[in-house]
Amino acid sequence: MKIIVLGAGTIGVCTAWHLLELGHEVTVVERQAGAALETSFANGAQISVSYCEPWANKDAPLKALKWMLSKEAPLLFRPQNPFGPGLHQYSWGLQFLANCNDAAFERNVQQLVALGAYSHAALKEVVASTGIEYNRLERGIAHYYCDQKSFDTAGEAAALMRKYGVNRQVISKEEFFKIEPAYQQFAHQIVGGTITPSDESGDCLVFTQELAQRCVARGAEFLYEHSVERLETAGDAIHSVAVRALSAGAKGRNVPGSIRLIKADHVVVAAGSYTAPLMRTVGVNLPIYPGKGYSATFKILKPELAPFVSTIDDAKKVAISRLGDQLRVAGTIEVGGFDLTLDSSVAQARCHMLSRRIEEVLPGVCDTRTEAQGGQPNYWTGLRPATPTNIPYIGQSPVRGLWVNAGHGTLGWTHGAGSGKAIAELIHGKKPEMNFKFYGAQPRAGDTSVSVHLRSTRANAIVVVTPRAHGPNTPETPASPDSAAVTCA
Ligand SMILES: Cc1cc2nc3c(=O)[nH]c(=O)nc-3n(C[C@H](O)[C@H](O)[C@H](O)COP(=O)(O)OP(=O)(O)OC[C@H]3O[C@@H](n4cnc5c(N)ncnc54)[C@H](O)[C@@H]3O)c2cc1C
Repeated sequence: MKIIVLGAGTIGVCTAWHLLELGHEVTVVERQAGAALETSFANGAQISVSYCEPWANKDAPLKALKWMLSKEAPLLFRPQNPFGPGLHQYSWGLQFLANCNDAAFERNVQQLVALGAYSHAALKEVVASTGIEYNRLERGIAHYYCDQKSFDTAGEAAALMRKYGVNRQVISKEEFFKIEPAYQQFAHQIVGGTITPSDESGDCLVFTQELAQRCVARGAEFLYEHSVERLETAGDAIHSVAVRALSAGAKGRNVPGSIRLIKADHVVVAAGSYTAPLMRTVGVNLPIYPGKGYSATFKILKPELAPFVSTIDDAKKVAISRLGDQLRVAGTIEVGGFDLTLDSSVAQARCHMLSRRIEEVLPGVCDTRTEAQGGQPNYWTGLRPATPTNIPYIGQSPVRGLWVNAGHGTLGWTHGAGSGKAIAELIHGKKPEMNFKFYGAQPRAGDTSVSVHLRSTRANAIVVVTPRAHGPNTPETPASPDSAAVTCA
């Protein structure tokens, strides 16, 4: 079949790869000049199967309220005009609040663990079959805590995750330094840690761009510098995609500004945070909202003192990962619209916090000077495509032939390979081998009383309609353990 993928972030490229694996003909449309130049560009680099707790937990609303007063807060809600673009923010916020309880938290965790395990296996398959190198470090992810109360809570979270088969161990301060001695200079502040030995880290940008090249080598067409203007439907099915050439292209064949319609048997929307506005044009309302995050990438000055184990600093909720001769620190979330500025006072405060923190925990190891001080911190911001549950939408929309693979929020790099494989299998008519509630046809805008779940996995699937409370990805399972802290990377 001929299939169009919209977006060449890590999700779109993994989708394209797996569709090619199944023998399909693939065209990818991307407005940037290459793959992974938006949110997949400079993330925290963690393949974090075992730290996958959703942001929504019973403590999140109070924490978010408290944090609204701090520019450096890990989670910052910046209310927009409810009578303008803020409407979607409030609707997202209400669904987020509905997930801030133990039962929702536990059922969301189960979905994220299932997708994580499937994705980790899929990533290993892709790496084994392509030989892509991307500064991968298979050393696990370690988490350190700087106060006793957080460390105690970490024990409860680890117990919950072990219940779902995740190997997360609580470790003493001494054990932590045996695993990663680089933080010795900060030892006076650390009270203990946790470790998930099977997690890993690596450069999402390098991996995605390499995979895109391999897709091209296998015959995929990448329409770079083409923006998707609109989706055209005919009756209840997708008809075509209107794309605008943004430049003349490498071979000078395009007329900049010209629009043409491209057609296929199926279309997959993998446009990150922009999936929601695109889907709304055909009447499908998905609660995917941008969660702005930041990273800094520093040159390592003392390689012998830099960490190899990817780490989470619990106090600041940031991820620290080594990528060859550079150290990446990433984190914080701002729920405040499609804002990519790096020069606002909030953005500056958050970027400088990243530099300051690295200097505190790994003094002298990297060049953390700001640009004003003559350094090159490579500050960057990206919009996580966030859902209220942290669970992505993978599956078929109510528009026949129109599929979605988006909403991966904080874990798109971790869940990319598996999400790509799963949607390719669904389109191909195969049931992915994981216990996951795939997105079925959503109720049309305004109809919130039902959601529709995929039963047949054939392209033109038979659907089952069931009454539901919130969103399509909320399986009904009882539970009530304690929730874990918000992790923002
Ligand atoms: C600070 C930060 C740290 C993170 N750390 C981690 C981490 O450690 N581990 C992890 O697993 N995840 C992490 N993430 C999350 C991860 O980066 C994202 O979930 C992932 O990159 C999303 O990929 P995507 O392909 O859905 O979106 P994107 O990478 O944004 O790709 C979507 C693509 O669609 C294109 N597009 C959109 N609209 C149009 C249009 N109209 N026409 C044409 N093209 C269009 C865009 O140009 C873009 O290239 C982090 C994110 C941030 C911001």
